[in-house]
Amino acid sequence: MTTDDTAQPWQWDEPTWRGHVERVRAGRSLLPAAGPDRWPGGAAVAVAISFDSDHETPSLRDGETSPGRMAQGEYGARAAVPRILELLHRHEAPASFYVPAVCALLRPDEAPGYVERGHEVAVHGWIHERNTQLGHDDELDLLGRAVDVLTAQTGVRPTGIRTPSWDFSDSTLDVVRELGFAYDSSLMADDVPYELLHRGERTGVVEIPVEWIRDDAPYLMMDRFGGLRPWMAPRDLLQIWIDEHDAARAAGGVFQLTLHPHIIGHPSRLLVLDRLLEHIRSTDDAWITTHAALAEHVAPGLRD
Ligand SMILES: [Zn+2]
Repeated sequence: MTTDDTAQPWQWDEPTWRGHVERVRAGRSLLPAAGPDRWPGGAAVAVAISFDSDHETPSLRDGETSPGRMAQGEYGARAAVPRILELLHRHEAPASFYVPAVCALLRPDEAPGYVERGHEVAVHGWIHERNTQLGHDDELDLLGRAVDVLTAQTGVRPTGIRTPSWDFSDSTLDVVRELGFAYDSSLMADDVPYELLHRGERTGVVEIPVEWIRDDAPYLMMDRFGGLRPWMAPRDLLQIWIDEHDAARAAGGVFQLTLHPHIIGHPSRLLVLDRLLEHIRSTDDAWITTHAALAEHVAPGLRD
């Protein structure tokens, strides 16, 4: 790699640009072989729905601590989560909840409540920190403490991580491996799970890919003094996600969705999730599962 840090990208030599691309990359696909055993019960599609229970933490992380901003996040825990849990119960849909440790400490009953209802709780940073601003030791310390908090509260050690804002620092994959996570769900190199490569080397870490298209935030976020405004009617969003699901089902693949209680949890929006699950359930051939169970199901592909 070039030692000249002031070089512009167009001046980089091949080892430099190749090195950037290959630092963290998609390895082998972990989609099980086609056939009735691809998904449990002969299901046509695996459906993995997730909630990033961020609540107040993105505002706290930015030092925006006014009661108004705190209340906007608190809505997620106070008003939205109970509705979401009722909806998931009604559709018999287990889901994954990614919980920043500070949220777990603010409301010690929240993470155990998810687990009691058959959902997964997994790591989502300490305070939704921007990991790209951290050195290796700080990132390891925060994520290690986050694992400890969730483990102590739920009695189950989380097997997965979704990095805050899906960001990866230069150290994130090292830290993920040092903490022994079975899977990450923050990157987007495919529609189906794959093995992460680290500088060309196999890691044994499963990636369950995400996508902005299958995330409520880019469509529905509101920032009064920023440029962010909800720009799509929730019912239009429903059609996008139905189309994404139907395509995944036709391919025998995975439909993965990322939602946020403080964003999706309003009545006009939760209706979208209700209709979507109605649609998925109407096919009668979906395996609705947690990210942890999906990672475990595809893990044998790591041994090939
Ligand atoms: Zn988040």
